[in-house]
Amino acid sequence: MIPMSLAAIADAVGGTLSEHADPEAVVTGDVEFDSRKAGPGGLFLAIPGAKVDGHEFAAKALAQGAVATVATRPVEGPAIYVDDAVAALTLLAKDVARRSDATVIGVTGSNGKTSTKDLLAQVCADLGPTVATEGNFNNELGHPYTVCKTAPDTKYLVLELAARGLGHITELCTIAPPHIGVVLNVGISHLDGFGDIETTARAKSELPRFLGPNDHVVLNADDPRVKAMGEGVEAADVYFGVDGPADFTAEDLEPGDGRHRFTLRTPDGTADVQLNLWGRHHVYNALAAAGAAWHLGASTEAIAKSLSAAGRLSERRMDVFTRPDGTVVIDDSYNANPASMGAAVRTLGQLPTEGRRIAVLGLMADLEAQSEECHHRLGEQAREAGIDEVIAVGDGTQPILTGADGVTATHVPDQAAAIALLRTRLRPGDAVLVKGSRYRTWDVADHLRAKEE
Ligand code: ATP
Ligand code: MG
Repeated sequence: MIPMSLAAIADAVGGTLSEHADPEAVVTGDVEFDSRKAGPGGLFLAIPGAKVDGHEFAAKALAQGAVATVATRPVEGPAIYVDDAVAALTLLAKDVARRSDATVIGVTGSNGKTSTKDLLAQVCADLGPTVATEGNFNNELGHPYTVCKTAPDTKYLVLELAARGLGHITELCTIAPPHIGVVLNVGISHLDGFGDIETTARAKSELPRFLGPNDHVVLNADDPRVKAMGEGVEAADVYFGVDGPADFTAEDLEPGDGRHRFTLRTPDGTADVQLNLWGRHHVYNALAAAGAAWHLGASTEAIAKSLSAAGRLSERRMDVFTRPDGTVVIDDSYNANPASMGAAVRTLGQLPTEGRRIAVLGLMADLEAQSEECHHRLGEQAREAGIDEVIAVGDGTQPILTGADGVTATHVPDQAAAIALLRTRLRPGDAVLVKGSRYRTWDVADHLRAKEE
């Protein structure tokens, strides 16, 4: 964190210093709410959780070198007392962002936020000190937590902005106002928060609308709802896309083995990119990252080099590996929604293999009234992609079978049954995709990853 005295922190969060706290003591380390991570010079945030209460670990955090605890009830040692720990973290993040002169880049969209954020963070890290959202830690706690990691030398702050309802992105933007905003796409995801796709689009459009005349917005030209977000914004708008003309495009796109190759064209030149990531959707994520990085002053060659070097992203996302027996596994089990399922099934369809292509598909959650239709459509997509066998796992996935008419398809009640079935089905050389909404196919993926068997 940018060094701040306890007095300055108390002021920023509207808290009160305990009598043991030295107002002049300076916090130089990071803010942590997990006492195991609390370290020398840091600030410990005691959060009363459902299972454990952070206040019970304040003494441990101080013993590890934390300067003080931010707490909502009395704790041992120096403390700053507040009414609400998460609200205090948000206020502190606002103050840290105000003190920093890092360039802030916000990434939003229905699909690919984490992937794009990871790609962009890797490009930025080649340009200068970078802080980025860790994994998918993009919620009310994760966002200010990430912003508080900004250090005096941080040049780039790359933030994943997740919209859970109208007004949410605007709220996140007020914490660390972005200079560059990226909108990837608008699709059916987390429908619970929005109800319909136009409302989802409205929520994402809060990012471009937040930006000012000196800022830049990077928009997907191939997604009509995203493209339309450029109209009437104050920020300079630039576009990326594959299908038609755009400022950042992928020319001579070739699927390769699923890791696409293309010539990146930016407003000032071209350079070859060989992605290390599987699936065509990552071409979009790479172009979006290129659009943002270009505005940071990176050359086309430097961007292409960083994008080509970017390796595996966060866990369980398009992680392709080969088992000792020669079967290839695409572990994309982190989460799922209709767009990302379609993308994953198409990637499996393109994977060069001498064996068969098997898709283990779990439930796409939170689709409510659209669930049946979306799962049916997924079955159709599996057939269109040339998948040889579908294993639909768990309640609600039965409509996949009717959609996949003509493809060998089985419905199993749970992951244990899916694993048992896979044991009888998998042959060396086969390729298998594992994907579903959170948790629903993680056991299957872990089983395939396990060395012994
Ligand atoms: P979440 O809302 O869960 O945070 P996210 O927007 O951060 O998701 P990722 O975690 O990057 O997205 O990817 C989620 C899923 O979407 C993965 O299965 C991934 O392969 C797929 N995906 C990634 N980028 C795209 C894209 N541009 N279009 C469609 N699917 C994508
Ligand atoms: Mg994410």
